[in-house]
Amino acid sequence: MSNPASVSGAGNSRDANALASEKEARDVAESARESEWSGPSFVREMFLGRFRLDLVHPHPVEDPEEIERARPFMAKLEAFLEHIDSDMIDRTGEIPEEYVQRLREIGAFGIKIPTQYGGLGLSYTSYVKAMAMVTSKDGSLTALLSAHQSIGLPQPLKLFGNDEQKQKYFPRLAKGAISAFALTEVDAGSDPANMRTRAVPSDDGKHFILSGEKLWCTNGTRAELFLVMARTPDAVVKGKQRKQITAFIVEASWPGVEVVHRCRFMGLKAIENGVIRFTNVKVPRENILWGEGKGLKLALITLNTGRLTLPASVAGGCKALLEASRTWAQERVQWGAPIGKHEAVAQKVAMMAANTFAMEAIAELTVGLVERGNYDIRLEAAIAKMYNTEHAWRIVDDALQIRGGRGYETADSLRARGERPIPIERAMRDSRINLIFEGSSEIMRLFIAREAVDHHFKTAFALVDKESSKSEKAAAFGRVMKFYPAWYPARWLGKGQVPSAYGEFGELAGHIRFAERHTRKLGRAIFHAMVRLGPKLERRQLVLFRAVDIGAELFAMTAACVRAQMLAKQGNSRAITLAGLFCRAARGRVEHLFENFYGAYDGEMYKVAQQVMRGEHSWLETGIISLLDNEEDGANLAQTQTHVAAGIAG
Ligand SMILES: Cc1cc2nc3c(=O)[nH]c(=O)nc-3n(C[C@H](O)[C@H](O)[C@H](O)COP(=O)(O)OP(=O)(O)OC[C@H]3O[C@@H](n4cnc5c(N)ncnc54)[C@H](O)[C@@H]3O)c2cc1C
Repeated sequence: MSNPASVSGAGNSRDANALASEKEARDVAESARESEWSGPSFVREMFLGRFRLDLVHPHPVEDPEEIERARPFMAKLEAFLEHIDSDMIDRTGEIPEEYVQRLREIGAFGIKIPTQYGGLGLSYTSYVKAMAMVTSKDGSLTALLSAHQSIGLPQPLKLFGNDEQKQKYFPRLAKGAISAFALTEVDAGSDPANMRTRAVPSDDGKHFILSGEKLWCTNGTRAELFLVMARTPDAVVKGKQRKQITAFIVEASWPGVEVVHRCRFMGLKAIENGVIRFTNVKVPRENILWGEGKGLKLALITLNTGRLTLPASVAGGCKALLEASRTWAQERVQWGAPIGKHEAVAQKVAMMAANTFAMEAIAELTVGLVERGNYDIRLEAAIAKMYNTEHAWRIVDDALQIRGGRGYETADSLRARGERPIPIERAMRDSRINLIFEGSSEIMRLFIAREAVDHHFKTAFALVDKESSKSEKAAAFGRVMKFYPAWYPARWLGKGQVPSAYGEFGELAGHIRFAERHTRKLGRAIFHAMVRLGPKLERRQLVLFRAVDIGAELFAMTAACVRAQMLAKQGNSRAITLAGLFCRAARGRVEHLFENFYGAYDGEMYKVAQQVMRGEHSWLETGIISLLDNEEDGANLAQTQTHVAAGIAG
């Protein structure tokens, strides 16, 4: 299948230019895609209708030696966080240098960097636990530490750097030389094929001359080091020009590197994010990371594991929100009872606890699988990022609702009138971006869908594709006859139908059986969709997304049950209660998604959307002040003020 990252909807027609640029975007994304699987994957198997519980069960248990190794750092981090003023950070939009310095001193910029280079040498698990703790206190600090360590230079350097590069940069990074990941540009957001930043070899071939502008580069305004993705001269692949993207390590101090703007946002007020301009920057060839033309693949692989920080950190944030919400639900008395005794609030508190439990299960499991090794994590990581950030957003919303007016009020204002300054309002502003950066929710769904249908398309696509030749159809027929006669009937029978199956899960066994049965059903549904829609499936984002959402729910249910079973064995039977409730809710969602798999009005929505965009329903937009005039208003206001000032002066 070609890349569904460019799927744009049902029954649409586009002009030749749009189709050409879509094709180019697909080609670039496809060539950077990891086409081989480096190990097994529970989620990949699940989309093929195979429930491989053995791949995720038992839940990974943290190494006690690692816990001991991490303890001193975690204690210092906790002590630091307890004493910082996050409302001040939010209010001023700045992280004081003394805070950054303290973080350097305790090693917070080199958590995963090996000790031989001066880092703390801690595991990924310890790292994400630290980030969860930081997030529970301050999102801007998470952005600073995580942009440096999840996607900034240390991670790709560890994965792709040569010895020389590691010797040169790791010690600086471990001491707290802040780094930034520079991929996005004005026209290259989700679609990196549009990248304009270029690096051309110098005449002597020893350097590349880098020019261009990067947008929204987190840490960019404070960084010493950048990892910059830039277009290098095209390569010829199979007789065709192919765009090349290369990753460069760039020093902020080099001539031609310039911060041209610091961006400000609705939340994460102190994030050091900006527009970075590179003008004829001379980058030594040895500063290429991994290899020429491998930059986009490097960026995507870095993000594959880098995006595992967010699932854990948002789970940490949600734990803090849960504590604040349950306390308030008990303290606040309205209509003669604590608000948590009213059913509408009670259900929010219950689901907040159950969902937070599942989110933490997903985060622990995915990171644990990375550490266990011999596992291809990219689908699990994408689901974890998408699922946890979306659930976290709902949890923030519920926390705000439970706190009522106090949820909407700033911490400073609450403090000023003598109330406990719980910063739910800040949490809401800080967390919205999580659904956008490090792969937006839509792009995560496309990425997962691409892999979900990959096997079927590789096997059978040519058979239903009008453009394939007779010989391609014949080859596809051979593959189909080899795979489907055994695979398809087996998707109707399984352990989930046996009432006593998965008995070791006790009360949760029924949920695991449900997950097994519906995994097979999902495999069948994807296959049926391919038969029913053929090549059109590629453009039915909503159908593909429903398949992805079912997969995400089944993965989440499995993770929750597996973790609860592990905790119950350790004596914490309360985890069973939370996993049980989570699974009940998830089952309802799965059933609804299956019932609505083809979407009764997807086509109608698409048509109306095109009408709306063409302005055919602009009749609806009367009686308002247009937001689009905002810029003019600003200019007019400035002009009026100048006139008034001139009048006064005159
Ligand atoms: C605070 C902040 C920090 C950031 N930090 C960094 C950083 O450190 N380094 C860096 O390189 N970048 C960074 N980014 C950029 C971030 O990763 C991008 O915002 C993100 O990739 C989305 O790109 P975009 O905003 O241009 O959205 P677009 O790509 O313009 O997308 C707009 C909307 O359309 C959807 N969409 C796009 N294509 C499709 C499609 N084919 N099908 C369906 N839906 C689609 C998107 O999901 C989104 O909802 C940051 C951004 C912000 C705001």
